[in-house]
Amino acid sequence: MSEQVRVLVTGAGGFIGHHLTKYLADRGYWVRGVDIKEPNYEPTAAHEFRPLNLRYETDCLRATKGIDEVYALAANMGGIGFIENNKAVICHDNSLINMNTIEAARLNGVKRFLFTSSACVYPGYLQNEPNPAPLKEDDVYPADPEDGYGWEKLFMERVCRHYLEDYGLPTRVVRFHNIFGPLGAFEGGREKSPAAICRKVALAREGEAIEVWGDGEQSRSYCYISDCIEGLHRIMRSGWSSPINLGQDRSVTINELVDIVAGIAGKRIMKLYDPSKPQGVRGRNSNNTCLRQVLGWEPSTTLEAGLAKTYEWIAGRLNISRASAIGSAATP
Ligand code: NAD
Repeated sequence: MSEQVRVLVTGAGGFIGHHLTKYLADRGYWVRGVDIKEPNYEPTAAHEFRPLNLRYETDCLRATKGIDEVYALAANMGGIGFIENNKAVICHDNSLINMNTIEAARLNGVKRFLFTSSACVYPGYLQNEPNPAPLKEDDVYPADPEDGYGWEKLFMERVCRHYLEDYGLPTRVVRFHNIFGPLGAFEGGREKSPAAICRKVALAREGEAIEVWGDGEQSRSYCYISDCIEGLHRIMRSGWSSPINLGQDRSVTINELVDIVAGIAGKRIMKLYDPSKPQGVRGRNSNNTCLRQVLGWEPSTTLEAGLAKTYEWIAGRLNISRASAIGSAATP
């Protein structure tokens, strides 16, 4: 790069933001990372990491000062259990983060702004079957997104369009479909299904049952983190400003996901169904036609390969916690 591009990653202490920060720094960008917390499992690769609260305008102005391109990932979010039980706080926090970040980016003359939306913006009425048609970008209206989290994302998608049309701020909107991989939350309530299943399988003994939310026949597609990061960078570099899916277009049920992880672990695992737990929509998959047309590229890591790396990492973390628990119990 002739002149070093200065990039801001918001949510750089989180799962995707941390991986993205490393990727961009490796490719010669100057990266400022911002978050209310540092990354959980390893130090940030950001050239500068600032602990800022992006719900506040003043912190957003500090974060975007002197920045060419913003990857806006900061959000208060988690898996289906978290988003179904925290709608007010999700709407409150994320609306403030999003509006203050994009306005500060405009005021500070940022040249490109990428917002990370979600497949949760798609209407519930298209996702009532276990194997529905893969969702394409313009299926989003008439709107009936996920309550709370999905509405907040959909509103911000429109805000991005208005900032482009009214102020000429080049915006990008990426709709993620279930991103997973090492260094993501795997316990504590904010983890998503692949990480939760890897944890449960790693902790189970041969032949034991693990808890599965619902009847396990709900289906999703899952995208490995390295594909997600590469896609994000490619979309930022493209001239595409309409919302675009970023995910895999192979859909599997939760039951199949459990079987794949059990196979990776080399364990026979039974399933204990809990219909009282949140399950989200019945079936969801990504239509990647637009992604292929715009980028000439799409995610290629297989679910099995991605889960093998994720399982290894989560099982390793659980061993570290067990070892330190035994160590502290042994300490007089
Ligand atoms: P994450 O929770 O790991 O990261 C989000 C980060 O934002 C966290 O580190 C959090 O501390 C930070 N944050 C929260 N409030 C903040 C504030 N007030 N100021 C500054 N930072 C704050 O989540 P992730 O999986 O890395 O997701 C990144 C983005 O992608 C989010 O916008 C999320 O909604 C979106 N997304 C993720 C997925 C997925 O499968 N992981 C799917 C769809 C959309």
